[in-house]
Amino acid sequence: MASLQGLHSEFITPNFGLHPWWIRRYALSLLIKNDSMSKNREEKVVICAENALEMVRVNLRAELESFLRAFPSAGVGECGLDKNTQNGREKSANKEDASLENNFDLGEVVKMDSQMSILSDHLSVAEKFHRPVTIHCVSGCWLQLLQVLQANNVHNGSIPAVVLHSCHSMPLEMLAAFFAAVGDNHPEMDLDLPLPVAGVHSASLFNVSQEKKKKKDGKDRVPNTRRSCRLFLSMSGRVFNSPKGIKLTRAVPLNRLLIETDSPDQLPVLYISKNLEGTRLSYNQPGTLPHICEEMAKIVSIDTAQFADITSANARVAYSIIS
Ligand SMILES: [Zn+2]
Repeated sequence: MASLQGLHSEFITPNFGLHPWWIRRYALSLLIKNDSMSKNREEKVVICAENALEMVRVNLRAELESFLRAFPSAGVGECGLDKNTQNGREKSANKEDASLENNFDLGEVVKMDSQMSILSDHLSVAEKFHRPVTIHCVSGCWLQLLQVLQANNVHNGSIPAVVLHSCHSMPLEMLAAFFAAVGDNHPEMDLDLPLPVAGVHSASLFNVSQEKKKKKDGKDRVPNTRRSCRLFLSMSGRVFNSPKGIKLTRAVPLNRLLIETDSPDQLPVLYISKNLEGTRLSYNQPGTLPHICEEMAKIVSIDTAQFADITSANARVAYSIIS
């Protein structure tokens, strides 16, 4: 992400964090690096069980802080909670890692309690640097996420924005509780948002040619004038197949709605079932965003161009992007 931002700084706003799917591999990489670790297998297991989580937390915090210092425009994330990780459904990316994992007891680092601690660390670093946070959460973890936001006093306003990404699985009845947890009161009355302009969205780009990032005093972030957090709900193409997600989308105030591809995941059905412009996609990519925008605009009954302007403006506010 850091090198991508270097290549395309005019339209990429990076975020840095440890996704719950990669906690186990991150722990493993730290253990392999640890020279002081005993070569004896039994001792290794004891070291892992006792220290792996602490090692992850200490190293992650240091790495995150270093990235945020190096990238003044960066946010924090994607971080969050995923019960599938806890159940061991995430897989190592290569055979070498998979066989190494068998030597270690890393179950502790991906337990839900551990994931909640690691998410709290992300929030704490975001608070220290006053950066937005993008959060991953799946069904079955929303209550725990609410607890983490409440326990970290996000409502005190030190974090400018919380983005719940690809969040179609959030129960509608919890929506108000999430706005309360981050202290985003009366979002429909928020008149602080800039006029809609074409721009970027979340991890994906919309209307590239019009995107120009300006720098002010050597920094590329909007100066903070608001001491409270905004909550944004970001929807991917997955929402089209989710009646509950559609209801949730319609309940979100328009100035708190974002759209995203969630690429390379969540490829919209349209691209699987038939070729578009001669291309059949096997994985998602930023180029599918206009389609997602068009379909989402229908859900909220707004003209597509207007909806693009609104969500682009929202994204600029969420990620403090000057245009
Ligand atoms: Zn995610």
